[in-house]
Amino acid sequence: MAELPTTRAVVTDLPGPRSTELLARRNSAVSGGVGKGFPVFIERGHGAILVDIDGNQLLDLGSGIAVTSIGHGVKEVTDAISAQAANLLHTCFMVTPYEGYVAVAEALNELCPVAGPAKTVLLNSGAEAVENAVKIARSVTGRQAIAVFDHAYHGRTNLTMALTAKSMPYKHRFGPFAPEVYRAPMSYPYRDGLSGEEAAKRAISVLESQIGASNLAAVLIEPVQGEGGFIVPAKGFLPAIATWCTQNSVLFIADEIQSGFCRTGNWFALDDEGVKVDLVTTAKGIAGGMPLAAVTGRAEIMDAIHEGGLGGTYGGNPVACAAALAAISVMRRDDLAGRARTIGKAMTSILRTLSEDLPRIGEVRGRGAMVAIELVTGQDKTPDAPAAKAVANLCNQAGVIVLTCGTYGNVIRLLPPLVITDEQLHDGLTVLAGALREVLA
Ligand SMILES: *Cc1c(COP(=O)(O)O)cnc(C)c1O
Repeated sequence: MAELPTTRAVVTDLPGPRSTELLARRNSAVSGGVGKGFPVFIERGHGAILVDIDGNQLLDLGSGIAVTSIGHGVKEVTDAISAQAANLLHTCFMVTPYEGYVAVAEALNELCPVAGPAKTVLLNSGAEAVENAVKIARSVTGRQAIAVFDHAYHGRTNLTMALTAKSMPYKHRFGPFAPEVYRAPMSYPYRDGLSGEEAAKRAISVLESQIGASNLAAVLIEPVQGEGGFIVPAKGFLPAIATWCTQNSVLFIADEIQSGFCRTGNWFALDDEGVKVDLVTTAKGIAGGMPLAAVTGRAEIMDAIHEGGLGGTYGGNPVACAAALAAISVMRRDDLAGRARTIGKAMTSILRTLSEDLPRIGEVRGRGAMVAIELVTGQDKTPDAPAAKAVANLCNQAGVIVLTCGTYGNVIRLLPPLVITDEQLHDGLTVLAGALREVLA
């Protein structure tokens, strides 16, 4: 077996010659509609390092969009997958059940920030989880309207496109969209300057005047927004919305698909303010890289759906469940939530110091190891998407994988695996700081 890589090492131009060859094959075989990102073809991974087919060792600060939070090549997970694969790949849980599905449901019922006893349904993807949460909310309340927020991202299926805010690339030319979806203003402290209470008042006034509480099945929100720009609502915003929901018998659905599973320094982002809700959607970090998603909610809500109303052929696949159980036990054993807080402190302190020299860094924000840098052209906070793209490109060229995001495309987001070592993190931040200085000077 090849020695396990622990450091960044760029040995060819990026992409290298073999990746360039494969890129040509990709371009003739794969739909042009699929995003291109950074076209280095990856062969294997270990911890925070990805090795490409040209032998370059890349430092991963994206975790495949907050999926491989426990790192690449985790033995506990790959062993669990192999053992399960040797025994059983599929039955369809609705046809004949198996224990892994039940065990994952038990773990989620215990961990998710749900008010009171919880129950779970397992699915394949984040979008599917969000769709099911909406189905459940509509059925249980007998109401149809769903409120979502500015900058929200909830997926790419027809209903979740309607729930998502950003047109290009997610919705452009893909309409018509599902009805009864209404958008409220998000708390975005950097741009609105409002306290949590003020922002909640503004949002609630939209819910009351434009929808009417008695028509509203659920409020759906990412407790820390992901694709929209890692927007952390002001303190007090989420508790105020949750209280209003309870008072008006409106269900609160927290989309923790990107923010969940230790990423923000707790099991879930809602834990930061101790908010408990009706329904929680999870996916991404749940299973160490295997496709799995869930809706976990108050038992009485989850049981109010008619038998057979929820499910799917593959939802809660046995191999994905085995991976999730192993991943969750690694998160617990190694206190990856605590590690996320440490990583977050290191990232924000270095980046905030840098921002004192570089006024075009509008804001460094985030929670735990979910950290973003919002770039602007100057004092008036005009978003600077080309700068974000240029910084990400320079990092990529140096073998550090960073992602951008944001409604305006002007945000660099950092989602390192939570097992990244101090040396690797320092190396990545040094490259990023160099790129920021070069682009923003
Ligand atoms: C990624 C994401 C989704 C969609 O998940 P998929 O597995 O890509 O369908 C939904 N909500 C949030 C907050 C996400 O980050």
